[in-house]
Amino acid sequence: MNRNLLFALLALVAVSVVVMVSTEKTENPGIAESNIETQGSTISSVGLITDDRIINLEKNEPGNWLSHGRTYEEKRFSPLTEINKETVSQLGLAWQKDMGTNRAQESTPIVVDDIMYLTSSWSIVYAIDAKTGETLWRYDPEVPGEHARKACCDVVNRGVAVYEGMVYVGSLDGRLIALNAESGDVVWEKDTIIDRTRFYTITGAPRAAKGKVFIGNGGAEFGVRGYVTAYNAKTGDEEWRFFTVPGDPSLGFEDPAMEMAAKTWKGGNYWEFGGGGTVWNSIVYDPDFDNVYLGVGNGSPWTRAVRSPGGGDNLFLSSIVALDADSGELKWHYQTTPGDNWDFTAVQDMALAEMEIDGVMKKVLLQAPKNGFFYVIDRSDGDMTPGERLLKAHSFASVTWATHVDMETGRPVQNPDLDYTGQAQWILPGPLGAHNWQAMSVDVDAGVVYIPAQDNPLIYGMNEEWKKTGVLKRDPGGWNTGLEFGRLVQLLLDNIADQPTPKGYLKAFDPLTGEDKWVVEIPHYWNGGVVSSAGGLVFQGDALGMLKAYDKDNGEVLWEFNTYTSMLAPPITYEIDGTQYVSILTGSGGGDMFGGEPLPPVAEHASLTYNNFGKLLVFKLGGKEELPIPEVRDRTIPVQKNLTTDINIIAAGERSYNEYCAVCHGVLSKSAGAIPDLRRMNDGVNENFNKIVLEGILANNGMSSFSDVLSEEQVTNIHQYVKARAEEDRLQAAGEVEMGRLTWQDGAG
Ligand code: CA
Repeated sequence: MNRNLLFALLALVAVSVVVMVSTEKTENPGIAESNIETQGSTISSVGLITDDRIINLEKNEPGNWLSHGRTYEEKRFSPLTEINKETVSQLGLAWQKDMGTNRAQESTPIVVDDIMYLTSSWSIVYAIDAKTGETLWRYDPEVPGEHARKACCDVVNRGVAVYEGMVYVGSLDGRLIALNAESGDVVWEKDTIIDRTRFYTITGAPRAAKGKVFIGNGGAEFGVRGYVTAYNAKTGDEEWRFFTVPGDPSLGFEDPAMEMAAKTWKGGNYWEFGGGGTVWNSIVYDPDFDNVYLGVGNGSPWTRAVRSPGGGDNLFLSSIVALDADSGELKWHYQTTPGDNWDFTAVQDMALAEMEIDGVMKKVLLQAPKNGFFYVIDRSDGDMTPGERLLKAHSFASVTWATHVDMETGRPVQNPDLDYTGQAQWILPGPLGAHNWQAMSVDVDAGVVYIPAQDNPLIYGMNEEWKKTGVLKRDPGGWNTGLEFGRLVQLLLDNIADQPTPKGYLKAFDPLTGEDKWVVEIPHYWNGGVVSSAGGLVFQGDALGMLKAYDKDNGEVLWEFNTYTSMLAPPITYEIDGTQYVSILTGSGGGDMFGGEPLPPVAEHASLTYNNFGKLLVFKLGGKEELPIPEVRDRTIPVQKNLTTDINIIAAGERSYNEYCAVCHGVLSKSAGAIPDLRRMNDGVNENFNKIVLEGILANNGMSSFSDVLSEEQVTNIHQYVKARAEEDRLQAAGEVEMGRLTWQDGAG
């Protein structure tokens, strides 16, 4: 169809939608009537978000943010200049909105004219007046509380897609839901999950293009098989599905890509574990080639020795996969970490650009995956070897698992000294990656990428059971990493002297030369995503609760604002009626809940110090709104009653705790701030401990029953371990014991 004709037809549809809602009184009492009455004149353009409009965003409407990474290219670079190096000192809070959550917020909003669409925790969607913060409508998909346990990294959501009059959200429990952009009413809903006995989740933002909505899922830690599905944007009918790893070969293959991929998996019963390869964050549409790129995740389990004992690359784990947008057929792939052994993934944000490389203009794809190398990939169609597709690959953080990427073969060269199948090893990066989902920003004119990077090592050691028997069964209710999580704390403390220091960075990185233009160190490693602008600024929120504007030329802090809450979400910037705004969601947690309480000297971690306040903060020049200064939270640890003296009980409790509880409540039973710290359990929680863990009486909060994996005795042991940890830390804080692991042992037995 002719594009102009299509546009005219869509305009007609949009107008009739407006007329329809204007005359129809909404039935839903939860939807603000002001939506229709006060916003009617401007809301109509929502219906007009089309491929063409997104493609021409830069030229026609620089003030909007229409797609997840702003444009289809997902550079997260704004051409706006009102807020710039000179004016930023006048930046102030314009308004704030309490999002009613203390769980992590990870959403990138979409801004269409004067409406902002975003998600909060529990996949709840908001349409907000982007000038005032007034809620136009709110949609709660009512995710069952017990589904929280099926998520590796809390009840987070990274945003919606807005397209042709609809708002699309993936709910934590795996539904793709299309809402009317005007009213928030459900238009259609699809169950995207192929196997409800497995722990699938959706936390990523759907992407929409070519009349389709694309969505993947998460769950590789629990043992699932990854795939992405394209649905018809209007009807929700399935258009295609692409699996990222092969299933049981005895059942045949879905497509030639799976037949090819299966040859790279050797031995073992990987399909029983699921294989992994979940596409939980990055899906990018490329109008230049009409491709959809998938960022594919880690293996399930993490360790290749368990899932594919005969070796092999295990396609398409940790790969960038290019599919034909219309058919879902494989066009090409590039694997960043062949045979991934470290939970490295290639799900991090991908940006599309045109860059001059060694004198030749190339259409490139840019990604900084967890493995620590920055990839510049040739995204043109056609057959290329990995070495031909790979244009540049420099490390952007501390990397020890590999020495470099071989530019001839396009493959990383592993460090043979750090093979951990025998001896446990500290390795950089660890599973949180040198860069995670917190988006980077690409500044093509400056030739740099601003990356929220980190050094965060893990001591990788093989599972003890596997070491003894050479086999491991999938645990359907727990994490399946192939590593020794049960004894992780002991392993960590036995090797503490060799631990590389964890830290965070914001850096301006030249992907072609591998040089840092500038680097700013941040004491804590788990910080927020970034946006940069033609105003010469880079914005980032960090773990210390500071939202900062950096000079993009040298990293100098030109403005800062204390939000009193740690941040992960990427800020965005937009313009309405000639006024430029910067917005940020506050609230940390997500993938780092496992890491728990930050190590000293990072006592200033904001969410730990105050609370994990889920807010939406919006700034403009001359903004005068004030943020209340919260009280410092009471972090004293109460005396524990009825603590056992039996060291065996506590040790057994520790193993179960590390396997099932640490993922959310933190290692050493120290919470990072978003989830209750079990060392501070009150009498009520203590009395009901077994009921909470086995009967799910707090399931609505996300603390569901673990009766499928834990016995009464194991729960009692966990309870004792948590109390012992509390007592140890209480005694240390009181100066009654000097230090040391499990000082309660001295008093025990
Ligand atoms: Ca993972």
